[in-house]
Amino acid sequence: MNLISMNVVTLLYLVASVCFIQALKGLSSPSTARMGNAFGMTGMGIAVLTTIALMFKLKEQIQTGGMGFGLVLLGVVVGGAIGAIAAKRVEMTKMPELVAAMHSLIGLAAVCIAIAAVSEPWAFNIAARGEGLPFGNRLELFIGTFVGAVTFSGSVIAFGKLAGKYKFRLFQGAPVRYPGQHMINLIVAIAIIGLGLVFCFSDGAAPAWTPYIVMAVLSFVLGVLIIIPIGGADMPVVVSMLNSYSGWAAAGIGFSLNNSMLIIAGSLVGSSGAILSYIMCKAMNRSFFNVILGGFGGEAAAADTGGAKEQRPVKSGSPEDAAFILQNAESVIIVPGYGLAVARAQHTVKELVDKLTEHGVQVRYAIHPVAGRMPGHMNVLLAEAEVPYDQVAEMEDINGEFGQTDVVLVLGANDVVNPAAKDPKSPIAGMPILEAYKAKSIIVNKRSMASGYAGLDNDLFYQPNTMMVFGDAKKVIESMVKAVE
Ligand code: NDP
Repeated sequence: MNLISMNVVTLLYLVASVCFIQALKGLSSPSTARMGNAFGMTGMGIAVLTTIALMFKLKEQIQTGGMGFGLVLLGVVVGGAIGAIAAKRVEMTKMPELVAAMHSLIGLAAVCIAIAAVSEPWAFNIAARGEGLPFGNRLELFIGTFVGAVTFSGSVIAFGKLAGKYKFRLFQGAPVRYPGQHMINLIVAIAIIGLGLVFCFSDGAAPAWTPYIVMAVLSFVLGVLIIIPIGGADMPVVVSMLNSYSGWAAAGIGFSLNNSMLIIAGSLVGSSGAILSYIMCKAMNRSFFNVILGGFGGEAAAADTGGAKEQRPVKSGSPEDAAFILQNAESVIIVPGYGLAVARAQHTVKELVDKLTEHGVQVRYAIHPVAGRMPGHMNVLLAEAEVPYDQVAEMEDINGEFGQTDVVLVLGANDVVNPAAKDPKSPIAGMPILEAYKAKSIIVNKRSMASGYAGLDNDLFYQPNTMMVFGDAKKVIESMVKAVE
C-alpha cells in the first residue's frame, strides 16, 4: 500500500516544521501563547501522521515482518494516554518535574532507536542486508546514544531532586560531593569518547557491540555523576539544559535515519533549551558554569536547616488592615511569587484587583523573570485567571515606578524582592530584583518568616514601612476581598 510519495513526505515535514517555528514564536508572549500551542499541536499531528504513512511505505520497500506497526500503534495509544492524563493532572508548581520526566523518555527513545539501528541497519534503510554501517552513521549513532543516555539518567536524577519526596540519597536536594569528583567525571567522559571512536572505526559487517554497549552504560553513569553535585535549587536550569540535550540527541538520530523532521524539531528543541538556560542564568546573575559546578541548592538547604534565624522586630497586621491600606491607595503594584502558585490563589487575586479597581485604585502586576519555579510561571498563572495583559508588566518596564507607588503587595514572593541582591557579599549578589523596597508602603503575605528558595533572610520584611500579613495566600486574599466589599 503506497500511501504517500517521498515528495509529499518532504512537503508535509516542511509544513510541520513551519508550525513548530510558529509555535515557538507564539509561546514567546502570553497574549499569543494559546495560538503558539495550537501551532505546536498541529505540527506534531502532521509529523506523527506523516511518519506513520512513511512507515507503511518503508515496510513495503524493505519487506520486514508484520509485528512492528501494531507495536508502534500500541506505543502511540498507551504513551499518548499516559501523557494526556499526566498533563491534565499536573499542578503548575510540579511542571518542572513533569518536563524532567518527559525529557528522560526522549533520551531513552534516542538510545533505543540507536541500538535498533546498529542492530538492523537495513530496517532503517541505512545499509543493505549483510553490509556494515558506514562510518558517518556509526559516528551519528555513537553521539545520539551518548547524548540520549546522559539525558535519560540525568533527567531521572533531576526529577527525583525536584520531587523532593524520595528518601534515596541521590534524589535529595543537597548536592552530593566527594573528593576527585571532577577528575572522575573527566575520566569517564574520556573513556566514553575512546570507546565511541573504537566503535566508529571498527570495520566489518557485524557492529563492534562490546565497545558500543560499554560506552552506552558509561554514558548512563555519566548522566548521574554530572547531575548529583548540583543542588535542588538549580534543578529548573538543569532541566532546561537537559531539554536542550534531548533535542540534540533527537537531531543526531535524525541524521542517522535521514529524517529531516527529527533533525529540524531536534535542533529547535536543542537551541531553544540552550537559550532558555541562558535567560534563566542571566535572570539569576549566575554563569552557566556556576550553576553546573556551584551547588547553590546546597547552601539553600544548609541555611534552611540551620534553624537559628535572626530575631528582629517585624510589623504584622491582619488581612483587614491590609485591605484598608490598599483601598485608600491611589496606585498599587502586586508582586506574585512561588507562594501564590502553591496556594492557587490567582483567581482570588483577580477578584481583589477587580474590587480595588472599582474603588478607583490603579493596580498592576510586576513579573520577575524567575519568579516561581520556571520561566513564565507567573504569566501562565495570571493568564489562567484571565488577568488582562495590559495590567501585567515585566521587571525592566516597571522597576522605575516602585518609588512613586503608594503600596506594593507582595504575594508569596521572597527572593525576587530581596534587597540582599544589592550586597556584593550576598550569595544572590547582582541578581536583578523587583525594587519593591522603594515603595511608600509594602504589604507582604506569606505563612511565616521562612526563607525562599535561595535560603536567605530578607531585609524587606524588617523595613519600618513593611507590614507582614501571615497566612496562606488564598485565605488571606479571600479575607481581603471580603474586607474591601
Ligand atoms: P521564593 O521561593 O523566593 O519564595 C516563595 C515564598 O512563598 C516562600 O518564602 C514561602 O514562605 C511563601 N509561600 C509558600 N507557600 C505559600 C502559601 N501557601 N501562601 C503564602 N506564601 C507561601 O519565590 P520567588 O518567586 O520570590 O523566587 C523564585 C526563586 O526560585 C528564586 O530564588 C529563583 O532564583 C528560583 N528559581 C526560579 C526559577 C524559574 O525559572 N522561575 C528557576 C530556578 C530557580 P512561607 O513558607 O513563609 O510561606
